[in-house]
Amino acid sequence: MDCVIYKSKLAKSRVNHILDNMGRIVIIKNVPANVCGQCGEYYIDNDTAMRLEEVARELLNKGTSII
Ligand SMILES: [Zn+2]
Repeated sequence: MDCVIYKSKLAKSRVNHILDNMGRIVIIKNVPANVCGQCGEYYIDNDTAMRLEEVARELLNKGTSII
């Protein structure tokens, strides 16, 4: 998997991922992702993205939100 902008190799790292769920912002920390060393863009694989959506939905259901 390469960066779509720089076509450079991505390195495995952890990021703080921000999800915008109907205008309610959820920040999930320490998400495993593939990060571009050139532009800082990161890519989350499908399995992880699906888990994040579940986590975000749970948090929002409990009334936890930022902003
Ligand atoms: Zn890049």
